[in-house]
Amino acid sequence: MGTKAYPPQPMLHDADCIEAPTGAIAFPARSAGSMYPHAFPHYNCIGPGTIGANKSLVAAPIDFDPHDYEPSSEPLLQPTDAVGPLCKICHGNHFDGSPAPFADPIGPARS
Ligand SMILES: [Zn+2]
Ligand SMILES: [Zn+2]
Repeated sequence: MGTKAYPPQPMLHDADCIEAPTGAIAFPARSAGSMYPHAFPHYNCIGPGTIGANKSLVAAPIDFDPHDYEPSSEPLLQPTDAVGPLCKICHGNHFDGSPAPFADPIGPARS
């Protein structure tokens, strides 16, 4: 596991979705996988054709209810650059807000 603490992940919307936030910066659907690999696609507006048509998407913060960190066991929710498995509920690391540990305090990463 790496050193990056993931924040709670946003929801992705088609830019034309009625629930899409106004004023959000749109990006092409084909970039979603690299920009927001752990975000939540909105089931109302994002479907199998979204990436094929390379539609414009926007990301909206999700107002998660308070919950305990539940580390996911899914490989897709265990990015190698993250400090630990992402939470099942918010796909974040429940980091406490102090500065991210960018450097390995013990020494250079071993591979
Ligand atoms: Zn939507
Ligand atoms: Zn969570």
